[in-house]
Amino acid sequence: MAEFILKPDNRNASEAAVIQDIQDVAGRLGRTPTLREYSSNGRYSASVIRRIFGTWNAALGKAGFAPNVEARVDIDRASEDVLRIAKELGHPPTHREYDEHGVYSSKPLRNHFGSWNKTLMALGLSVRFESNISTERLIENLEEVWVRLGRQPSWADMSGPASKFAARTYAHRFGTWRGALEAFVDFMNADESPVNETRAQSDEVADPKLIELHQGVAPGRTARNVNLRTRFLVMRRDHFSCVICGRSPAKDPTVELQIDHIIAWSKGGDGTMDNLQTLCTDCNLGKSDLDFL
Ligand SMILES: [Zn+2]
Repeated sequence: MAEFILKPDNRNASEAAVIQDIQDVAGRLGRTPTLREYSSNGRYSASVIRRIFGTWNAALGKAGFAPNVEARVDIDRASEDVLRIAKELGHPPTHREYDEHGVYSSKPLRNHFGSWNKTLMALGLSVRFESNISTERLIENLEEVWVRLGRQPSWADMSGPASKFAARTYAHRFGTWRGALEAFVDFMNADESPVNETRAQSDEVADPKLIELHQGVAPGRTARNVNLRTRFLVMRRDHFSCVICGRSPAKDPTVELQIDHIIAWSKGGDGTMDNLQTLCTDCNLGKSDLDFL
């Protein structure tokens, strides 16, 4: 039985050493190895191969072997690797992101499933550029990213872990990324009284989560739950930070901000901006405890 040893710390492996090792493995197997076979028999990891040669076939070429023509990459393994990268990035990877971070290349997966979007769908990952995302969801997501960053998001921010949808999706819907930001600002600046706003939004907002926010409101009284617009304006006024402890998600990603009624809604406090403040979950919990005293 083969001795159990760690693969060498091969971050600085030379091209020549890797080529030699591929030739050694081929000699031992008596045939051109697949990447999978090389990975279990060779000294170097698949990520080293990718870093030095780009692809396994390029490495084989340098070692003097014909390429593995077929998708010898095990689709199951590559699929698992896509899921791993999705977890690592916090969102389903684009094929470019996968090529950058993954052990394999996106190409055999795209060939196997038909396209990268079909690959993501087959793996149960949502497709980032789906066209049927409601405008409300796009606005809602932009609001979340803005709060999280504490500032206007850039195109690149939308590819990061804070966002569920890529900037490209916004550009597609609103013409340009700038157009999306302008639509967002227009939405936030729309001058409506809270009561009218409640009614108007129940009619036009398709997202059940948002409709829920506006149900069960007595006539003439603002909603108990704060709608997206008010939430954003209050947080913006409070500089996207907790008004008690000053912490913010921009500086500490573990911080979650919430909107708090200064005079509790149950005690007649309303949902106007004057009665609302931004608290982190910790401070908000502390405040609720005091309410019970
Ligand atoms: Zn706080």
